[in-house]
Amino acid sequence: MKINENYLKLEESYLFSTIAHKVAAYQKANPQKKIIRMGIGDVTLPLCPAVVTAMRDAAAEMGRKESFHGYGPEQGYPFLKEAVQHYYFSRNIKLDEHEIFISDGAKSDVGNILDILSADNTVLIPNPVYPVYVDTNLMAGRKIVYMDANRENGFLPLPDDRVEADIIYLCSPNNPTGAVYSKEQLQKWVDYALSRNALILFDAAYEAFVKDSALPRSIYEIDGAKRCAIEFCSLSKTAGFTGTRCGYTIVPEALEFDGVKLNKLWLRRQTTKFNGVPYVIQRAAAAAFSEVGQKQIRENLQYYADNARIMTGAMKETGLWFTGGENSPYIWMQCPNGMGSWEFFDLLLNELNVVGTPGEGFGENGKGYFRLTAFGDRQDTAEAMNRLTDYLK
Ligand SMILES: *Cc1c(COP(=O)(O)O)cnc(C)c1O
Repeated sequence: MKINENYLKLEESYLFSTIAHKVAAYQKANPQKKIIRMGIGDVTLPLCPAVVTAMRDAAAEMGRKESFHGYGPEQGYPFLKEAVQHYYFSRNIKLDEHEIFISDGAKSDVGNILDILSADNTVLIPNPVYPVYVDTNLMAGRKIVYMDANRENGFLPLPDDRVEADIIYLCSPNNPTGAVYSKEQLQKWVDYALSRNALILFDAAYEAFVKDSALPRSIYEIDGAKRCAIEFCSLSKTAGFTGTRCGYTIVPEALEFDGVKLNKLWLRRQTTKFNGVPYVIQRAAAAAFSEVGQKQIRENLQYYADNARIMTGAMKETGLWFTGGENSPYIWMQCPNGMGSWEFFDLLLNELNVVGTPGEGFGENGKGYFRLTAFGDRQDTAEAMNRLTDYLK
């Protein structure tokens, strides 16, 4: 028996444990201080009432013989796939029902999709990055090429014709940087992928945070994207499903490599290795797409957007360079006075009692940068920003 030695190549991530350790030590030494946490990548508002009602009703259905549900379709129930289909159609994107696959979240599918792609492919990954893209490819032993996201390109790298890649990861609005690609920029990526028969894996987990109607919320708003891109989305950040678990993956029929449709391979993979998302959760997710559900969700998203506006206002006051916050729950800021990101972390914690995430936890190019999130409490967010602007005056 031999283990998968690729796992030994993974770098241990000490980011969040180091943060937790430092915060706990500070709180222990200073029990009277109120620490404000702006490092979390999790939502804090509860599920909306329409979702909770649907979940409760579905649970009751499961408790009666005549409405009990056992195994469901691996790809998701038609009622939820239709809801997703309408959600896209309302943005002028036409999808066939069988192009939609219901999942237990975007993270699982972003990792699982690699099952149907050869380990010989070279992957192109932006740096800084959501660590899942890197680690899932290292586990499979794939060759990774990094593309620099930096202040010069607004943390939105564009294709470089000299770089050969078969699989390209794009996340917009981006975690950790909050930067959002324009349609023109995404068109460049689609053209690049089509010209070299490459596949784009597009993470749209934060699409619902886009307010500017000129910015794309789906890669399928771009001409040609159905021939080169898979899109991953999730109700986690949109509808507070981080602990409830439901997402969806779009694998277009037009996606064909070496005469083989990826949709067919993915269907085969899912029906073999996955038994679907629980009925109760799919009912809850469908309620999130209903008219009343959408209205309630929008209120929560507005709450986070208002937090983000307080944060961008404070950033402008400090004069520090930053990106994100306008169409995203993340603000990515340059640390003041040439500080390193851990140095700034310590300063924020010890002097201002505010916790954020050091940018270098997301890769080399995050050095000297810092991530703050808008998922916190309104008053705490305002208080943290006051402390920051006062300190940097
Ligand atoms: C939060 C997040 C997701 C969503 O993951 P789930 O598994 O659906 O909770 C996907 N991609 C990125 C970049 C994220 O930050």
